[in-house]
Amino acid sequence: MSETSVEVSEIHWLMDMFQTVDVGLVVLNCDYRIQVWNGFMENHSGLTPRQVRDSYLFDLFSEIDEDWLRRKCDPVILLKNRAFTIWEQRPYIFKFRNYRPITGSAEYMYQNCTIFPLSDTRGQVTHLCFIIYDVTDVAVSRIELESMNGRLQQLSKTDYLTQLFNRGHWEESLNQEYKRLQRYPHQSTLLMCDIDHFKRVNDTYGHSAGDLVIQQIADAVRKNLRATDIAGRYGGEEYAILLVETNLEQAAHLAERLRKSVEQLSIKYNSQILKVTLSIGLAEHNKDMVNYRQWLEAADKALYRSKAGGRNRVTCYSPLD
Ligand code: GH3
Ligand code: MG
Ligand code: MG
Repeated sequence: MSETSVEVSEIHWLMDMFQTVDVGLVVLNCDYRIQVWNGFMENHSGLTPRQVRDSYLFDLFSEIDEDWLRRKCDPVILLKNRAFTIWEQRPYIFKFRNYRPITGSAEYMYQNCTIFPLSDTRGQVTHLCFIIYDVTDVAVSRIELESMNGRLQQLSKTDYLTQLFNRGHWEESLNQEYKRLQRYPHQSTLLMCDIDHFKRVNDTYGHSAGDLVIQQIADAVRKNLRATDIAGRYGGEEYAILLVETNLEQAAHLAERLRKSVEQLSIKYNSQILKVTLSIGLAEHNKDMVNYRQWLEAADKALYRSKAGGRNRVTCYSPLD
C-alpha cells in the first residue's frame, strides 16, 4: 500500500470512530454556527449533519441559555482554557429525550460537557469543540439515592401509627429548645397529654379500635397546632407538644381547645361510635431548670394532677404546688 492510501484509510477509520463513538461531538465556529455534528448528535436530535451545518446554535436549540453558554465559552476562546458543565448545575445542554430502558424514569438525557478550543496553524482559536457525555445512569441513581436518604431520614423521625414525631426525635427537639431558652429571653411551654381510661377502649373494642383512637387524636392534635409547634407521640397513648414562643396563659388556651375538640370527637369504629377524653398537663420553661428532663417532669406532674383531679382537664404546673 502506498503512503497516501495508508493515510486515506486512517482518515476513513477516524471518521468511522467519530461517527460511532458513544459521546456527542460538536464543532462550532466562533460565531456559534455548527460545523461538525457526529452520529451521536444525529441519533439523539434527529437532525442530520447536513441539516444543521452552518446553523446558528441558539436558533436551532432554543432551550440553550445563550448568555450562560457564551459566558462559559468566552474564556475558552480568549484564554484557550477548557470549560466544563455538569448535570448538577444544569441537567443538560441539548434537550434530548431519554430512551434508556433502565433509567426510563428520566424524561431527558442528563449531560456533562467539556468544551475546548480548536486552533489554526498560527495558534489562533477558530472553533470550539463540545464533547457531550450521557450521564443519565449516574444522575438517576444519585437522585434516587438522595431521595431515599431523605425518606429514610424522615422515617427515622416519624412515628409509624400517627405520623407525628417519634419520641427520640421529639426529645431531641425539646433539648434543642431548652438550650435555646437558657440563652435567650424567650418563653415556650410544654404540653403532656394522655388519653383517659384508654385500657378500657382496648379491652372493650380491641386493639385495632385502640389504634384508630390514637390516630384520630393525633389528627386532632395536628389540627389544633400552628406550624411552629412540635408534636410527638411520647408513649402508647401519650402525646407531647412543644409550643414554641408561647407563654403558659396562651398555651393553656390552646390546651383547652384541644381538650374540647377531643371530647367532641365521635370516632367511628365498624358500626360503633367511640368517645374518649384527654388529660393535659402544662409547664412553662423556667431558667432554674437544670436540664430538659426537669421541664418534662414538671409537665408530667401537672398531667398527674389532671388525672388525680378527675381526668378530662387541663392543669398548669406551678413550682409552689
Ligand atoms: P389513665 O386514664 O390513667 O391514663 O388510664 P389508661 O387506661 O389510659 O392507663 P394506661 O396509661 O396505664 O394505659 C395505656 C394503655 O395503652 C396500655 C396499653 O395496652 C395501651 N397501648 C399502648 N400503646 C398502644 C398502641 O400502640 N395501640 C393500642 N391499641 N394500645 C396501646
Ligand atoms: Mg398512659
Ligand atoms: Mg391513659
